Formats: sequence, C-alpha cells, structure tokens
Amino acid sequence: MDNELPVLGLIGLGTMGTPIAERLIGAGAELWVFDTDVAAVNRAVGNGASAAASPSDVAAHADVVLLSLPNAKIVLEVVAGKDGLLSGSPVRAVIDLSTTGPAGAENLRTALEASGVSYLDAPVSGGPAGARGGRLTIMAAGAPELLAELTPILSILGSNILHVGDVGGQGQLAKVLNNLMSATSIAITAEALSMGVRGGLDPERLLSVINASSGRNAASSDKFPQFVLTRSFDFGFQYNLMVKDVSLALDEAARVGVPMMVGSTVRQLWDIGQKILPSGSDCTALAQVVESWAGVTIGGDA
Ligand code: NAD
Repeated sequence: MDNELPVLGLIGLGTMGTPIAERLIGAGAELWVFDTDVAAVNRAVGNGASAAASPSDVAAHADVVLLSLPNAKIVLEVVAGKDGLLSGSPVRAVIDLSTTGPAGAENLRTALEASGVSYLDAPVSGGPAGARGGRLTIMAAGAPELLAELTPILSILGSNILHVGDVGGQGQLAKVLNNLMSATSIAITAEALSMGVRGGLDPERLLSVINASSGRNAASSDKFPQFVLTRSFDFGFQYNLMVKDVSLALDEAARVGVPMMVGSTVRQLWDIGQKILPSGSDCTALAQVVESWAGVTIGGDA
C-alpha cells in the first residue's frame, strides 16, 4: 500500500463507483467497499478491494470514505441511517462524489458536522470513461485545508480539481448547472440533427459542420458521433439521473427565485422523454424521442 494514502472506503459501486474503485486500488490504496448490489461488491473484491458488510462496517476500517450514490436521499440514509457510516467508528472525512443538489448537500453537511466529520462536497463530471482514465473534473467545495489534505486522493481520480467554494453544497450547485447545460446541449443537438436529416442532410456531415463552427458542444462533438450515429445509446449516464440533475438545478432556481425559461423548457422535454423511453435508458436516448417526432433516424443504416 502507498503509505501516503489513508485507508479508504467507497460506498456505491455503479457505473462511476466501479472504475473509481479500480483507480484507487491501482494507486495502491487499501480500499473497503460497500454496495447493496452484491455482484458489484464481488467485482470490486476481484479487483483487490475488501468487502464491508454495511456502511457502518466501512467506518470500522476506513479513515476517509468516498460516496458515489444515486441521490441525496440514499446518501443521507447511507451516512445517517440504520447501520450508517455515522453509527460506526468515527471517520476523519467524507468525500461525496455523488450528485445530490445543493439542498441535499445541506442535509449531509448538517449530519456530518454534528458528528465532527469533515465533509468535502465533490461532485464529478466526465462520465465512466473519465473515471476509468483518472480524467474527471472534480468540483470541490469545503475548507481549503481539507481540500489540500484530500488532494492526493482526488488526483488519482481527476485531472481537473476545481475549488468552487468553502461551503459544502457549492460544488453541487456548479455540478447541477453544468448538467442543465449538458442536458440542453443534448436536446438542441437532437432537434438540429433531426431537422437536418428531415431536410436531406447527412447527419455525419452536419455534425462535422457544427463541430467546425460555433454550434459545437459536448453532445455534438462526443455523444452524438459515438453513441447516436452508431445507435449504441450507451454513453453510460442513465437518463433518469440526467432528469434528476435538471430537476435539482430548476428546483434550486425556484427556491432562490431566479427564472430559468430555457431551462424550464428543457426540463419539460426530458420529463416527456422519461414517460416514453424504457426505464434504464441512457441519456443519449433523448435523441430517439426527438427524431421520432421528426419522423427520421439520425445515423445508423438510415
Ligand atoms: P449507478 O446507479 O450506476 O450506481 C449507483 C450505485 O449505488 C449502484 O451500484 C447501487 O447499487 C448503489 N446503491 C444504491 N443504493 C445504495 C445503498 N443504500 N447503499 C449502498 N449502495 C447503494 O449510478 P452512477 O452512474 O454510478 O452515478 C453515481 C452518482 O454519480 C450519481 O449521483 C450520478 O448523478 C453521479 N454522476 C454520474 C455520472 C455518469 O456518467 N454515470 C457522471 C457524473 C456524476
């Protein structure tokens, strides 16, 4: 084990947590893991992690615990619920990599502060490929000294560690605003590509034009060429998680009284898509909803 690193815990071994576990183990960390999905735990153990029986058992072994969980409710349960992290031996710090939104982060901060556990709010961007390659963007919020202490761990996972503020929750705000923009890019790219195909343009050539011009965005440059034109729809970020993030951004805007008209329309579109698409769909499947309304197919053999 690398003596620079404390003993680590990781709770949540899904699309993001699995490659995060691999990176931490690859860097020489002693890693204790927990997930309600036994297959995910077995996979991590096969890669060199140790299995804990509960979040509280993670706390029995680890000094610093990372979380990569679906939403704020689950994060709070895992931390402060029955057999939760806080019912075990005291841990030094919790790094929450999940996207929970600013309000969720506030509840987590309160629970951790009451138990004297340091909290780094650290949502990520970059998807499973970024996690595998250690190229995540990490939007960290917390005391600067805490961030400095935890940077050796974060730098195993991310190439862009950005300190967005001193208060846990500010990272969440940055993250959900980023994802609102990402959801907007997917939506408008799907509309433009559908319209282009309907008008007789080749979608690959249209993407080349957009990507060499001012309409370029992460959907046009990466997601559409790789996961829509190929009809694989497997970028690796679940549709329902994107809906969650858009809602978190809009809920926060409503809470502070900031109108977001474009964002509200984008939220409606994603909500409609959720009613149409099968559960478990990838976020890139929004293109299938939009193209069906235009009566076209973007890419594939069409
Ligand atoms: P996921 O659904 O693939 O993984 C979540 C994991 O949490 C699953 O393995 C699940 O079994 C586990 N889990 C659920 N409830 C649990 C509980 N009570 N105790 C222990 N484990 C539990 O989700 P993901 O795509 O890995 O995303 C994780 C977080 O990271 C989310 O908040 C998401 O919004 C965020 N995120 C995801 C991506 C991406 O591209 N997938 C990118 C950036 C941020």
